Amino acid sequence: MRGAVMTERIVVVGAGVAGLCAAMSLAREGRRVTVLDRDPPPPDLDPDAAFHDWSRRGVTQLRHSHVFIGRLVATLRDRHPALWEKLLEAGAREVTFGDALPYALRDDYSYAPGDEALSFLFSRRSTLELIMRRHAASLPGVEFITEVFVNGIETETTDGVVAVTGVRGVKDGEKIVWFADSFVDATGRTTQGADWLRAAGAEIAEEESPAGILYFTRHYRLRDGYGEPDRGIAQGAGDLGYLKYGVFAADNRHFSITLACPEIETEMRVALPSGEVFDRVCAMLPGVARWTDPVRAEPVSKVFAMGALKNVWRSFVRDGQPVTTNWYAIGDAAIRTNPLYGRGCTTGAVQAFLLGEIFDETRDPAARLRALDARTRTEIRPFFDAMVRQDKAAIRRAERERSGEDVRPSLRGRITKSFLDDAIGPASRGDVHVLRALMKPFHMHEAPTAWMQRADVMARVFVMWMRAKSQKANFYLPPLGPQRAEMLKTLGI
Ligand SMILES: Cc1cc2nc3c(=O)[nH]c(=O)nc-3n(C[C@H](O)[C@H](O)[C@H](O)COP(=O)(O)OP(=O)(O)OC[C@H]3O[C@@H](n4cnc5c(N)ncnc54)[C@H](O)[C@@H]3O)c2cc1C
Repeated sequence: MRGAVMTERIVVVGAGVAGLCAAMSLAREGRRVTVLDRDPPPPDLDPDAAFHDWSRRGVTQLRHSHVFIGRLVATLRDRHPALWEKLLEAGAREVTFGDALPYALRDDYSYAPGDEALSFLFSRRSTLELIMRRHAASLPGVEFITEVFVNGIETETTDGVVAVTGVRGVKDGEKIVWFADSFVDATGRTTQGADWLRAAGAEIAEEESPAGILYFTRHYRLRDGYGEPDRGIAQGAGDLGYLKYGVFAADNRHFSITLACPEIETEMRVALPSGEVFDRVCAMLPGVARWTDPVRAEPVSKVFAMGALKNVWRSFVRDGQPVTTNWYAIGDAAIRTNPLYGRGCTTGAVQAFLLGEIFDETRDPAARLRALDARTRTEIRPFFDAMVRQDKAAIRRAERERSGEDVRPSLRGRITKSFLDDAIGPASRGDVHVLRALMKPFHMHEAPTAWMQRADVMARVFVMWMRAKSQKANFYLPPLGPQRAEMLKTLGI
């Protein structure tokens, strides 16, 4: 007790995107936030040096491509303008809905209210983290303790509910326990939080399904005198069934390419870590080749590879009752999603800012956890379910590509394909109104199927469906790349 004001002590374990957002949202007068992380602090370096030299063994994906979508952008830009300014000063770029439009739509575009929520932030993940970390560390009441490996929890159990009272860790070889009122588990994909709670008797439910892909990423820098290629019709991201690809523009003249290979494509996954093979694949994908053309850009990293990609949902509330108290898992420690959708950081940030609001509303630990669970389900679960369904479909498609199986689709399958290929696809490339509606769920502002309930949008999609192909020829994509057999033959596989 200090005077009449009780100081609430909060320990956030993990200083990744979710932990940093939690520190920013929880920092208030009357609270002391201590952030523990296993890795060293960010070096006093510029973004390029940080990308190469910051040791981040705790975040294996730090040097993989990241895109930051509108829900995260709107949160950081509108709630934390000082941070936003620092990000832009460091070279990160806001790319608005208007900036990202394909050429065919530019002339039809005029600003509509809400477009500002549909911006991307283009930045390397290391740059975003570097600047966020410095910003969070400058907030009053927030302290960082680094190079601490947290390896357990202290608990007390009452009426079957496990209350967390401390976290155990090792710093400079010394065992330390950090006691606090509340703990935020933001330790990411390798969290052991649920296991520690289970060992103490809490029943944490867990749903899991495979993403079905492996990630291969290489970073490039534009050569002096060259800019980014025009955003023409050749797609900067696409799905060939046997391979998915994406170009990720970033800060300070950098960009990265990710090739996502189905887990079952055993020969390709062995070949792709070679920089030479990786670049040859890029050269065969028109939407990528424009970027990686050696005249325009040079590679600045090896090919980073990453597997064990899954969708995971952990529940800390059972039948409406918390199974633990004082422990709030957020970000990948609670929900993991296939990185291809680019929603992981936003999910963690949404949860972190929900947590800040909930902490302001009540001090009752059970009510806090119930609220976090309920609001996360409302905000995130529809996206999670849609991603799991899409991954299952993508895994089936990759199996068909590999086996060469020629399945004659049912009438329903043919109609669905025609709706996607001849209605939604061309409408998204030929009608700003439809694209805007589709981008709202993409940026996590509306539920995945919200646009389907809007008569004005559906009417435009159906009109596009009815048009003769010759009338919408400009709104079809050119081939994204070679067929699987041709790709493998060219690679000598
Ligand atoms: C290959 C790949 C590409 C991705 N691309 C995107 C993308 O384009 N857009 C997007 O939004 N998301 C993307 N994601 C998802 C995104 O990276 C994660 O969702 C996000 O990093 C989760 O943030 P977090 O803070 O929960 O965990 P992390 O960022 O993993 O941070 C965890 C932190 O906890 C610390 N820590 C871990 N264990 C301990 C311990 N025992 N003691 C102390 N500290 C510990 C770590 O050092 C780290 O700082 C991608 C993921 C992968 C794997």
